[in-house]
Amino acid sequence: MNKERIVIIGGGFAGMNLAKRLDVGMYDVKVIDRNNYHSFPPLFYQIASSALDVPSISFPFRREFKKSGGRIAYHMGHVKNIDLKNKVVTTSYEDVSYDRLVIAAGSTNNFFGMDGLGQNVFCIKTSAEASHTRDEILDRLERGCIEKDAERRKELLSFLVIGGGPAGVEIAGALGEMKRDVLPREYPELNADDLSITLVEGSGRLLSAFDPELSRKAEKYLGELMVDIRLNTVMKGYADKMVSFADGHKEYWETLIWTAGVMGEPIPGLPDAFMGRGGRILVDEMNKVIGADDVYAIGDIALMKTEDYPDGHPQVAQPAIQQARNLAANLNNPGRRHPFRYKDKGTMATVGRNRAIAQIGKMTFSGRLAWWLWMLIHLISILGVRTKITVLLNWIWNYCTYSTSLRLLMRPVKFPLRRHWGD
Ligand SMILES: Cc1cc2nc3c(=O)[nH]c(=O)nc-3n(C[C@H](O)[C@H](O)[C@H](O)COP(=O)(O)OP(=O)(O)OC[C@H]3O[C@@H](n4cnc5c(N)ncnc54)[C@H](O)[C@@H]3O)c2cc1C
Repeated sequence: MNKERIVIIGGGFAGMNLAKRLDVGMYDVKVIDRNNYHSFPPLFYQIASSALDVPSISFPFRREFKKSGGRIAYHMGHVKNIDLKNKVVTTSYEDVSYDRLVIAAGSTNNFFGMDGLGQNVFCIKTSAEASHTRDEILDRLERGCIEKDAERRKELLSFLVIGGGPAGVEIAGALGEMKRDVLPREYPELNADDLSITLVEGSGRLLSAFDPELSRKAEKYLGELMVDIRLNTVMKGYADKMVSFADGHKEYWETLIWTAGVMGEPIPGLPDAFMGRGGRILVDEMNKVIGADDVYAIGDIALMKTEDYPDGHPQVAQPAIQQARNLAANLNNPGRRHPFRYKDKGTMATVGRNRAIAQIGKMTFSGRLAWWLWMLIHLISILGVRTKITVLLNWIWNYCTYSTSLRLLMRPVKFPLRRHWGD
């Protein structure tokens, strides 16, 4: 019997969960991803701050799909086009035909059209970006240690984090811990005052998706970690190392860490009519792309407008996982057409050691309890026993020593050029 071919673009939370649940007796499943590993974005900020390294939170697709006895295939490739008429996906390496297509390509940085911003700021939206940010921080710390001029040293060691959502708060907190705990232990040439961290947020409070009381707690925690917070401050542009703000004033900053915006990962070939707000693909309640046959979108890239979520579901892990599960159940049982209903299991963010906030239904937690909860939930969610053990060991080590052994600055090698690696 000829099985239907299902091609899944993206092996993140949504794509991976779907692939593992599809009935491989019914379908030939192929996952296309530009990386040969599944990663864990909630801990990217720990890569940027040297608390974890990339392999600790990455898991090779081939290893995971081996369990299917070769019935889930992985193809490496960056998707360059979708030909809906002929049902073909074109990647950087090949054309792949499908009977049904599931787009689970996630989201990317949104620079809101600011000229050249993407080329000049550091981001933490992928493990590669987080590693690049880590290298910049480490490079600046080392250069700061040998810089004789005090003013120049401060310029080198001033970090501006844009965006007061969970990612911005987490990276600002991690830098604050570096200033408070790592600098005195490992960089004796530097004073804590040499390093400054400023967190800028456009609205009137941090973590606007959380209860206001938890936002205040996060501000307090960041204050304890010597992070300077500026609320109601909107950045408008960045050129020649000058940051322009909405009120018209400009400031000199060399290192910007951008966490302020996300948008759906652009996938060429889809008509504009398919796209909704934030570059997300409009889907119905079964995650079928509105206007296309046999094409679905799940996870961050999907925009499902419902009564409860008129602007779509939050771009976090749980909707991606739950949509994948519902779609797999529908596809595995052709008579089943269950609409997706999101079950909000709560949200959390960490600011640093013993400092986290969590909101589960009407209950709110903060401080040490929330921090332990945050660690437990993240440990459970990471794929693979090896990765869980590595992360746990690193955390125990960091907790006991107030330091990390991962502050290695790996300089990239330029030649021989491999242009396709830049895709
Ligand atoms: C720094 C950071 C912190 C976060 N913290 C949290 C948190 O604490 N809690 C939480 O719930 N959520 C958090 N999130 C959000 C969460 O990670 C996302 O909601 C979730 O990853 C969405 O899953 P997804 O499968 O839709 O996309 P992703 O997990 O992003 O997966 C998309 C996959 O598609 C691949 N891909 C993309 N484009 C292409 C292409 N053109 N060709 C081939 N492959 C492609 C990518 O390589 C990737 O593997 C965080 C995200 C970030 C960036």
